[in-house]
Amino acid sequence: MAAQIEYLKPDAMVAYPNLLERMAVVVEAEGKDLRRILRPVQHIWWGGARLNKELRSLMGEQFDVEIHEHFGIGDMGFHAMDCAGQDGAHFQDDRFFIENLNPDRLEPQDLEIPGELAITALQDESMNYVRWRTEDLGIVKTDPCECGRTSPRVVIFGRVWERTKVDGAVILPHNIESVLLRLFGHESPFQILRSRDGQDPVRLRIAIQSGFDPATVEEAIRSELGITLPVESVTADVILAGSPAYKYRQVVDV
Ligand SMILES: [Zn+2]
Repeated sequence: MAAQIEYLKPDAMVAYPNLLERMAVVVEAEGKDLRRILRPVQHIWWGGARLNKELRSLMGEQFDVEIHEHFGIGDMGFHAMDCAGQDGAHFQDDRFFIENLNPDRLEPQDLEIPGELAITALQDESMNYVRWRTEDLGIVKTDPCECGRTSPRVVIFGRVWERTKVDGAVILPHNIESVLLRLFGHESPFQILRSRDGQDPVRLRIAIQSGFDPATVEEAIRSELGITLPVESVTADVILAGSPAYKYRQVVDV
């Protein structure tokens, strides 16, 4: 991948996050300068895993590029991509129709209330995708965007099945991710563990950074999210085991 970038010198790339991280490791092992290789690249469109503001900023600094998000569904193709305003991904409303479903009742609701996004393809002639449930939990913004485009913007918070109730509050992985990024200063793999029968309390396992301990993480979560989550320290290999190459599961039922 790095050799291709050096040869083609693209202005922009579409890439999966873990492939980028892998490339960074390989390039460093070869004694090369990643920033020099990526110098022609000004924008990277990130896909396949959700991105929050803190992670976007960190990845942008690491690769010295502007990071954008895009969303798509394997069967239907890309449907949304963000702009320089980075306040939601502009939805292609000339090609698709979007609805927001109440996650419990599956009835359409106001676009700006967090719900499951459902998409109908308007141009597919050979296959009908009607009210296709994306399993993405998010909102659709319709207020004016600073870039001047008038299409609605999609903001994704997580997957519907990732909603986890702790101490009466519903949390998503991005809530935990934000706490850990602030605490450690960079990304750290973690998993929310739920018991299938709901008998055991929800807990968290984390590849804790050196200099920190589970009690510190528990306190940060308690003070920022107002919930109590027992934290277990594991190696990153334990969390990444069995995951696909480009993302890992942040919520697991055990
Ligand atoms: Zn915009």
